[in-house]
Amino acid sequence: MASIEIRDLVKTYTDARGNQTRVLDGIDLTLSGETFTSVVGPSGSGKTTLLNIVSGIEPHTSGTVDLTSQGRDAKVGYVFQDPRLLPWRTVMANLGFVQDGRSGWQERARHYLDLVGLPHVEGRFPAQLSGGQQQRIGIARAFSVEPDVLLMDEPFSHLDAMTSRSLREHLERIWLESRRTVMFVTHDVTEAVQLSDRIVVLAPGGRVHEVIDVDLPRPRRASDPAVAVLQAEVLARFEALEAATGAAAPVAVAR
Ligand code: ADP
Repeated sequence: MASIEIRDLVKTYTDARGNQTRVLDGIDLTLSGETFTSVVGPSGSGKTTLLNIVSGIEPHTSGTVDLTSQGRDAKVGYVFQDPRLLPWRTVMANLGFVQDGRSGWQERARHYLDLVGLPHVEGRFPAQLSGGQQQRIGIARAFSVEPDVLLMDEPFSHLDAMTSRSLREHLERIWLESRRTVMFVTHDVTEAVQLSDRIVVLAPGGRVHEVIDVDLPRPRRASDPAVAVLQAEVLARFEALEAATGAAAPVAVAR
């Protein structure tokens, strides 16, 4: 079983004058097994910083972060805001590029392209695909390396509402099939409720404000009344957090 263990994590930035700002203040979180966890919070609460530290892109000031799977370092997959496909390579060559020479990757790549609804594009170049299709390729690429844990940074934030709704459904389907440990950062509460088993709410100052369990049957649809009710409830909690801290609440887009 894979896990992401975050213990007493602190991140402090020091500016040119030596002034220190603490942006993550003692985060304790465990993400383990086949769970999809979203991290939401007002702008500036430290979501991206937390994900960057977990992925090893950014150093932390103190505390520990461990990504493990069956007693060894976990294999990590990424889905970024921008799919970052290599424009001079075909779709298939883009998926092949991240495979570390493992055998049988073509079969896996085709399987995940199927699951994101793009079985016929393997010979195309990124410029021949829409932004939404490119992001679907980015998702297929991340799953095709069969990571133990998957880190996602607002993967739908650059897409229009219709496209991101369809991508959420693709993502849920592919995740239901392969059940990785997912850490998903978003500013969109509706997205978090639809996709997650757990929602971690960060408060300004970089603390965990609360953790909300989402116990709704899958697959979920945005139009499902139970999803809508929980979305409204989580939004109300955000408004309370906003009122208490003076922070701008994350955007919830009606879809
Ligand atoms: P979020 O993703 O929740 O919007 P971020 O993780 O981007 O929040 O930022 C958290 C806080 O850290 C913000 O106050 C931001 O201004 C600050 N911050 C982020 N990166 C840097 C940096 N390189 N230097 C100084 N402060 C930073």
